[in-house]
Amino acid sequence: MLHRDDLKVSRRTGFVADERFYWHHAGVITSGCDIASFNPGGGEFVQPNSGTQGYFENESTKRRMANLIDVCGLLEKLDTATVKKRAAQKEELCYFHSRVYVDKVEDMSCRNGGDAGDFAFFGPGSYNIAALAAGCCIEAVNSVLDQALDNAYVLCRPPGHHAERDRGMGFCLFNNIAIAAEHAVRNRGKKRVAIVDWDVHHGNGTQQAFFERSDVLFISVHQDNLYPPSSGSLNEVGAGDGEGFTINIPLPPGAGDGAYKRVMEAVILPSLKKFDPEIILVSCGFDASFQDPLGCQMVTSLGFQQMARDVLSLDIPIVFCHEGGYSPEHVPYCGLRVVEEMAGLEKSNVNFYDDGLNYGYQACQKWQEDVVQKVCELHAL
Ligand SMILES: [Zn+2]
Repeated sequence: MLHRDDLKVSRRTGFVADERFYWHHAGVITSGCDIASFNPGGGEFVQPNSGTQGYFENESTKRRMANLIDVCGLLEKLDTATVKKRAAQKEELCYFHSRVYVDKVEDMSCRNGGDAGDFAFFGPGSYNIAALAAGCCIEAVNSVLDQALDNAYVLCRPPGHHAERDRGMGFCLFNNIAIAAEHAVRNRGKKRVAIVDWDVHHGNGTQQAFFERSDVLFISVHQDNLYPPSSGSLNEVGAGDGEGFTINIPLPPGAGDGAYKRVMEAVILPSLKKFDPEIILVSCGFDASFQDPLGCQMVTSLGFQQMARDVLSLDIPIVFCHEGGYSPEHVPYCGLRVVEEMAGLEKSNVNFYDDGLNYGYQACQKWQEDVVQKVCELHAL
């Protein structure tokens, strides 16, 4: 193990984590198999999980990722001070969300919490935590646009990309990345903002925010028809002025590092180069991991690292906003490799081996390449 002083990084990378993100409580649940169990408090026939491990979306994946980055020595090489940690104001949350919805979440948060819409459970006080998540993403955008940092990772919670204008969805209360993108347009005068969403689920909320807009390019690679159901198909390409500025790549289950590499090379990087964004925001979920309980893809930590390397290679100001990822074992390693890549770390202190590298079908398969080809034809890439 290298002494911390010998760890060498080449970029100024902001890293935003906050104890309060871990205090958001997303309820207690049994499994995704028994509809009767989708009630906070537990299921009818299956023993509910309890405590902090209660829900798929709980704080442990994020806390463990932050802790790994700390104990391996990397944290000392990151900038934890420049990005201002603050809650988004109500007006900022309303860049995307309706006032009625924001007020509703605030009101419920002052009581006992509840469900903000569709599988978006929260406990008392989560309004403030969700507003902090959105505010930190806004400030990370400011820091990279001010060139105070080369890039920034916001380990925010709750996640955001499913949250729609009028309702929370899929563990998400406020759409952190949509609000941050809107901030870049409204307050920083940016005319071209790109969002790359590699969470295994479709970023339906973010898509909704910019579906008719040509100033924000939204690219989502996700598992076909996972969550939300029937969302993120190939032919959802934007509408009106926004036609062609929404790009969906719905991969069949079983896609590994090879398929994601192909998507990056054939779709994401060419689209970004064509659009020429002034800033890139990444909806960085780690649930395409081969160990994730809520997806059926096979990406390894090296696969995520490669995707980070690819988007960083464009040398455009970039902010990563944490989204999903539900394997407490694997998310920390995936997150570590991404943040190491962002910082340009010469040599990692952490050696580990991903079993997923040995899985069959890690190379891009014909049925995955077929999807890539269809997307390329549709978007003239
Ligand atoms: Zn997800």
